[in-house]
Amino acid sequence: MHDVIIIGAGPAGLSAAFWCDELGLDTLLLEQAEQIGGQLLRVYNPIENYLGLKAHNGQELLQHFSQGVESAEFDLWTGVGIESLDLKSRRISLRSGEQLQAISILLATGVRRRELGVPGEKEFAGRGILESATRDRNLVAGRDVCVIGGGDAAAENALLLADVCPTVTLVHRGKRLRARRALVEGLQANHCVTVFTESVLTRIIGNTEVEAVEILRKDGLKPFQIAVGGVLIRVGVEPNTELFRDQLQLDEKNYISVSSQQETSVPFIFAIGDVANPLAPTISGATGSGATAAKVIAARLNRKTSG
Ligand SMILES: Cc1cc2nc3c(=O)[nH]c(=O)nc-3n(C[C@H](O)[C@H](O)[C@H](O)COP(=O)(O)OP(=O)(O)OC[C@H]3O[C@@H](n4cnc5c(N)ncnc54)[C@H](O)[C@@H]3O)c2cc1C
Repeated sequence: MHDVIIIGAGPAGLSAAFWCDELGLDTLLLEQAEQIGGQLLRVYNPIENYLGLKAHNGQELLQHFSQGVESAEFDLWTGVGIESLDLKSRRISLRSGEQLQAISILLATGVRRRELGVPGEKEFAGRGILESATRDRNLVAGRDVCVIGGGDAAAENALLLADVCPTVTLVHRGKRLRARRALVEGLQANHCVTVFTESVLTRIIGNTEVEAVEILRKDGLKPFQIAVGGVLIRVGVEPNTELFRDQLQLDEKNYISVSSQQETSVPFIFAIGDVANPLAPTISGATGSGATAAKVIAARLNRKTSG
């Protein structure tokens, strides 16, 4: 029986583990990936908004976080597959057959990129489907590309690609781009960029690599194809809540509903970071909510809370 089991070792889970350890709680941190860090592993741009620390990318910030938890004594298991989780009894069954139990469970499972679910999306992963413009733009320099999405991330990536690609086609299903004004103006002023609004990507086509995309305009009868050498998809994120979705209160987008103390609708179950923060997901928010939850749990268990 552990005092606390934390699920997910992104910024929120790492911060919570650090604080739980500080507060004398017997803590186990479970991460499904082989590496800790969560979304930080996919941040290729500089991070300049985490107070007091600037990093060239997510990996560099993760190094700071890892150093921060080096001396802590919580247990960390990576590459862990959770078979099932019963929030009421706070029992966890691992795919390895192991059974775990805790007085309190902290859900820190974060979010993942939303997929389009179109043919070709999975097949061409790593073969023309780009992870990030910052990371991959040299791979597609000189080729025409297509970006899907209408928010800040899609617009930012489209502008970065327009620096090195002859044409960038931005496809957005809504009537207007949702990106902030400066980005939209940047797209409008860039002669390499064509924007298709009220349009959807229906297929990614190619042999060994991406060669074309198929687009359907809302007012069009038939989809049309354009030749591209790369596709970048930025259509938002969704919370990782499938494992416990039917056991606690979620909002309409399946994010976990929490109190100001990070408590969920189930006693002794807390949720922290992006999975419980649909409106303002940030690294600072994630680490802060981890600290809050740890202190509340320690107080409930009558442990010291002055750390
Ligand atoms: C490209 C990009 C740029 C960004 N730039 C910034 C920025 O400049 N500033 C900023 O403040 N924020 C930025 N963010 C957002 C920031 O990275 C997130 O707010 C932060 O990582 C959230 O931390 P988290 O711990 O809540 O979730 P995550 O980082 O999503 O971590 C969740 C962890 O839980 C694990 N997990 C999920 N399900 C399970 C399971 N069933 N069992 C075990 N483990 C599980 C995942 O593998 C993952 O490791 C950026 C994000 C991206 C993608």
